[in-house]
Amino acid sequence: MIGLPERAELDQAAAAQEVGAAVSGTSADQPSNPYATLAANAFASPAGDDSGLLARILSDPRMQHHAGGLLSCLQCGICTSGCPAARFGDFSPREISRRALLGDPTLLTDDSVWLCCYCYTCQSRCPRGNSVAVINQIIRGMQVESGYGLKHVALFTAWTEEFYATGLGGWPRQLLDAIADAWGDRWWNLVEHLDEMRDELGVGSLYPSEKAMGELRAIMDETGSRERLQAAEAQPRA
Ligand code: SF4
Ligand code: SF4
Repeated sequence: MIGLPERAELDQAAAAQEVGAAVSGTSADQPSNPYATLAANAFASPAGDDSGLLARILSDPRMQHHAGGLLSCLQCGICTSGCPAARFGDFSPREISRRALLGDPTLLTDDSVWLCCYCYTCQSRCPRGNSVAVINQIIRGMQVESGYGLKHVALFTAWTEEFYATGLGGWPRQLLDAIADAWGDRWWNLVEHLDEMRDELGVGSLYPSEKAMGELRAIMDETGSRERLQAAEAQPRA
């Protein structure tokens, strides 16, 4: 049975169509030599970066090994073909790369960059050494700085406080009431006897040791991570 094409396939087809249109010289504005169009497109300075976004991305230390890859992105779509967020959501790493290269300021208010789960598949497969994973990190940081992205990080405040107190951000009992509903008594038996079960299995406590907790708290205190999240939660959200 022939199924509907995956988003990645559609994305690759769109990329091929864009290149194909340039090669065939279908536009009335294009010169008769199609390779002139390709060359002009390939070597021209990225247009429309009034926002300074491209410069900001390229100068970020995390792009140290990927800046050349971004500047030479082929729009091949290989990143999108392996991206789990593209498969299950309205998101395309190829599009992110293109818009970053153009300095598209709408990226700074685009919620789709938060769909990226930082699996780094795009980076590992990119033939040019680009990293959309890193580009997403930079754009997310800029969204948080501007206030627009605070809605995406503020929900981690409670998780962080729990992590600071116990060494775990939470576990399913706290996160998913639906599990308790579905499992009923079996679930509550597990909750009640978890420590005994872990002892019997010889896997130790669910929580980190006091020594490890001291080290964790020292790192969080020194880096100010809790304060930053609390400040993020307190700010008005765009
Ligand atoms: S970022 Fe890499 S994999 Fe993605 S379209 Fe550009 S060249 Fe291809
Ligand atoms: S790191 Fe993000 S953009 Fe890259 S493949 Fe994974 S989910 Fe997609």
